[in-house]
Amino acid sequence: MIIVTKPEATEEQLQHLLDRIKEAGLKAEVSRGAQRTVVGVIGAEDVIREMPLAAIPGVESVTPVLKPYKLVAREFRGQTGVVKIGDVAVGGKEVVIMSGPCSVESRAQIVGIGREIAKAGARILRGGAFKPRTSPYSFQGLGVDGLKLLAEARAETGLPIITEVMDPRDLESIEQYADCLQVGARNMQNFSLLKEVGRSKLPVMLKRGMSATIKDLLMSAEYILSEGNFNVLLCERGIRTFETATRNTLDLNAVPVLQAETHLPVVVDPTHGIGLREHVTSMALAAVACGADAIMCEVHDSPENAKSDGEQALLPHEFEDLVQRVKKVAEAVGRTV
Ligand code: PEP
Ligand code: MN
Repeated sequence: MIIVTKPEATEEQLQHLLDRIKEAGLKAEVSRGAQRTVVGVIGAEDVIREMPLAAIPGVESVTPVLKPYKLVAREFRGQTGVVKIGDVAVGGKEVVIMSGPCSVESRAQIVGIGREIAKAGARILRGGAFKPRTSPYSFQGLGVDGLKLLAEARAETGLPIITEVMDPRDLESIEQYADCLQVGARNMQNFSLLKEVGRSKLPVMLKRGMSATIKDLLMSAEYILSEGNFNVLLCERGIRTFETATRNTLDLNAVPVLQAETHLPVVVDPTHGIGLREHVTSMALAAVACGADAIMCEVHDSPENAKSDGEQALLPHEFEDLVQRVKKVAEAVGRTV
């Protein structure tokens, strides 16, 4: 249920409304706008329907939300919200480019790549320190040492950093170093992890699971928001289909559909989406053309020596070319880079 207050509603009236919601054993999430306050009521829909909420003073409208997600619903905010990662705003006019290697491998590697991508126009540096690998025998990431290297790369480049959290037990140490948490595709429905990052002060980028529907993705995001963290980005990174020519099938349909359904900014990861270096730029351009608020792509200075995902990483000069071309598409659809 979404309640919108009248422009002239007083603070006492709002408090009274919140008290009534609490008395009924329901939870309220308040979003204050310049003119009106929007209150999202969470709890059994049938209990809420029994309450004559529209009769409470100061209430302008009461809209039942029949969708199973409420806080992520576009109606809750009415427009795309802006999520800040360090001082970079995602969800505004600028299409934000996030880039970096799949894994942090060494100081020289992450600082070197960080410098190259910053020079080319990237705004956020990515790099995995805790890696979700299909095989337990593959490189698992440098862990806390990797986080420290990311922080050094931030100091050298000025770029805020995003890195993956796989286990709630690592969250505290990741929070000490990162500017944004990434929940990977394989953990999209790890509900205890979602609740944990929902209690974090850091923004969260939630990647779509490889077999997850758009609704599943929104329900997972709802877990994070329901714990109080509204700074969430959704990331389309390709789903599994019958197609074997590409690593995944980048579902660009998700971009306009998500933007119609939710106020959360939408990121597209063409790198994991297609998995083939030579086609990453094409898909990045398509992502921006269909309205992505940000793109994430992997870059490596020596892909043949990369400890993970070398075959899909762009070389720094290819990334530079991507940024230049993305700029043109962004302008064509009324955005900037
Ligand atoms: C990654 O970003 O390197 C990654 C592991 O992504 P995903 O969770 O989408 O596979
Ligand atoms: Mn990767």
